[in-house]
Amino acid sequence: MLQDKGYEVDISPKDGILSKDELKEALGAKPYDAVLCLLTNPINAEIFDAVPTAKIFANYAVGYNNIDVAEAIKRGITVTNTPGALTDAVAEHAVALLISVALRIVEADKYLREGKFKGWEPLGFLGLDMKGKTVGILGAGRIGFRVGQILKKGFDMNVIYYDVKKNDEFEKDLDAKFFSSPEELLKASDVVSVHVPLLDSTKHLINEERLKMMKPTAYLINTSRGPVVDENALVKSLQNKVIAGAGLDVFENEPQLANGLADLPNIVITPHIASATIPAREGMAVLAAQNIIDFLEGRTPANKVSL
Ligand code: NAD
Repeated sequence: MLQDKGYEVDISPKDGILSKDELKEALGAKPYDAVLCLLTNPINAEIFDAVPTAKIFANYAVGYNNIDVAEAIKRGITVTNTPGALTDAVAEHAVALLISVALRIVEADKYLREGKFKGWEPLGFLGLDMKGKTVGILGAGRIGFRVGQILKKGFDMNVIYYDVKKNDEFEKDLDAKFFSSPEELLKASDVVSVHVPLLDSTKHLINEERLKMMKPTAYLINTSRGPVVDENALVKSLQNKVIAGAGLDVFENEPQLANGLADLPNIVITPHIASATIPAREGMAVLAAQNIIDFLEGRTPANKVSL
């Protein structure tokens, strides 16, 4: 799209994640007008200094916790994201994690491949019946709404939610009940699915104390951002059966996992791939490119981020 518009486009010289110095060097190579960046690129004052000509940073993600937006605004730099394009993919992945862990699909698959299956057993791999259970959505925005819809309309689950703002459409469409505190929601949920953005106010929203408030039979699903959950506390809670299990696509210190996490049988983990479908990734690319085109042609990009 950018080349069709006549812009010169340089692609990152390296496959994989650039270090801070590599990023600075790559961006300092030319007086670039725009940068299309990834969630693995921390964008801050140092990076803005490396490419002072770039007045738009288009993040290839809906979350933009990797960008110092306050600093960008101070410098008159526009930041954009890619909302909507990946909503279905991420919501479906959250549900896939839930099914995988609660119905013990991955655990049972491993058992079978290891040659441990000796025949049908009445009490083998008992899982959670989802119908009629309660799912607590933390953050009823685009993705949280869609997860609620799938679990309500597909599995006949009850939906409750906590958010900083009430969502009338969510309540009307899904008969969802609003909880004004995360604590009350955690106590009432059989499944908790996390969909808040990573902000100072949401870092460790799920901590040791709050994990203890959950039912011992409950499952935690996180497809938002790793630091929203205190990962060491979660490992401890899963080891001690404080909760039944977890499904995680994101981690506190990616690509590292907390000590002990990968040894737990009662989790399903995926390497930050919730938006990894072709339509989602194409949609994200189109939005990011269009945001740059709009900016360079003098229009306000549709997905301009504000604080
Ligand atoms: P959204 O903005 O539509 O929804 C976020 C919701 O969280 C909003 O309703 C907002 O009011 C609420 N919220 C904000 N602060 C809160 C707080 N302190 N407490 C409770 N609620 C709060 O965003 P979205 O498109 O649904 O995406 C949600 C998040 O999912 C993104 O910010 C991103 O970090 C994450 N994400 C992850 C992947 C992945 O690959 N795993 C992909 C896409 C998005």
